[in-house]
Amino acid sequence: MGSDKEKKFVEEITPMDEDFAQWYTDIVKKAELADYSSVKGFMIVRPYGYAIWENIQKDLDRRFKETGHENVYMPLLIPESLLQKEQEHVEGFAPEVAWVTHGGSEKLTERLCVRPTSETIFCEHFAKIVQSYKDLPKLYNQWCSVVRWEKTTRPFLRTAEFLWQEGHTIHATAEEAEEETIRMLNVYADHCEEVLAIPVIKGQKTDKEKFAGAKATYTIESLMHDGKALQSGTSHNFGDNFAKAFDIKYLDKEGKLQYVHETSWGFTTRMIGALIMVHGDDSGLVLPPKVAPIQVIVIPIAHHKEGVLEKSYEIKDRIAKVARVKIDDSDKMPGWKFNEYEMKGVPLRVEIGPKDIENNQVVLVRRDNREKITVKMDELENRIVEILEDIQKSLYNKAKAHRDARTHVATNMEEFKDIVENKTGFVKAMWCGDRECEDKVKEMTGATARCMPFEQEHVGDKCVCCGKEAKKLVYWGRAY
Ligand code: AMP
Ligand code: ZN
Repeated sequence: MGSDKEKKFVEEITPMDEDFAQWYTDIVKKAELADYSSVKGFMIVRPYGYAIWENIQKDLDRRFKETGHENVYMPLLIPESLLQKEQEHVEGFAPEVAWVTHGGSEKLTERLCVRPTSETIFCEHFAKIVQSYKDLPKLYNQWCSVVRWEKTTRPFLRTAEFLWQEGHTIHATAEEAEEETIRMLNVYADHCEEVLAIPVIKGQKTDKEKFAGAKATYTIESLMHDGKALQSGTSHNFGDNFAKAFDIKYLDKEGKLQYVHETSWGFTTRMIGALIMVHGDDSGLVLPPKVAPIQVIVIPIAHHKEGVLEKSYEIKDRIAKVARVKIDDSDKMPGWKFNEYEMKGVPLRVEIGPKDIENNQVVLVRRDNREKITVKMDELENRIVEILEDIQKSLYNKAKAHRDARTHVATNMEEFKDIVENKTGFVKAMWCGDRECEDKVKEMTGATARCMPFEQEHVGDKCVCCGKEAKKLVYWGRAY
């Protein structure tokens, strides 16, 4: 297509089958999603990447409010003594915590940790503001960033600082807390499937994989194009663990003191990485319309010819009533522009040139399957809405077909290894429930227990590892 320069733009990304990790990094850079900063593991989220995050935020925030939650803001720093109040929690997070030791040149009397998550701050606050059952539930959410000193990092997927939301709620009863934990997992699952077009498996984490201090952790797990799993969102039920550690009590209707029951749940910028790795191809990013900052790009062809620019703007204004649209009327060659917006994953391109104007039509090109569709001018808005909806659905179906094709059953460790090493993807296998077997599977295959799915199946009687009686079906996989 066109000049050498245009070719070069495409050639610069590594094909995904050649080197998936490099392909990923190439897209992060070329689609202008993020850049590295001078501190290892800390990334610069560029405007286009941030616009995707804002769309994720808008949708999730709406869902949180519809389920009764309020946004709050808590401090960035946690005194060491506060972090230490819940034993399992501090042990889980201590290796990843960044500490503030000085204010100016003065040494602090107590170290302050940069929040890796904010359970402890919420708990301290809850203990102060809750007295009676009438004060419950408290359904809070915070949009912020947290810091976890990760050893190996990759843009979006695993960064030392990441943007997220953390929900923190307290309830009068254990049942209510459990309901909330599941409700919010479902909110995440719906967001992933309906907006990000990423199918997920819902389930519970094993004790080994659960959150530090939680009674139960629920997760949604998705599968990337290279067959590796990604933990995509987690929802924790703390029971009264934290309530006891932080003394959060209320007077019930009978005037008796009770501990509250608590939950927390988080969703992060990691999912921008998932969008790349689930939908992307060798021409770059492919964005589902619902999360795309630009849904339609209008590209005038031969725009110096009389009438083309005027018509292009007229079309852009019409499309603006039904979709997020931009026009590129810069002096770059059309072929160059095609490549650029393909790289950025814009779902739909509108081409309009002198011939189209003559024929009272435009040409639409889908990013997902490159189909060219000629559309009569008076059908423009309707067709665009229809096609965007179809792209959204197609991307989900394609991702689901890929995941299903890469989900295999293993009944012994030989089959297990073969799947992980050759077929790649999720391994469905029975498990006896012992930590020993979980560790051994990891040692032998590099796969971890992704979750015990809510939809349990019976694919055998015996544990895939030790051959003892099986208790649960587990989804296993190598993961990011
Ligand atoms: P957690 O508070 O540990 O349950 O984490 C909540 C969610 O954050 C997890 O489900 C992951 O999807 C995501 N996550 C964890 N660590 C990172 C990281 N270093 N960078 C980006 N996202 C992360
Ligand atoms: Zn076993």
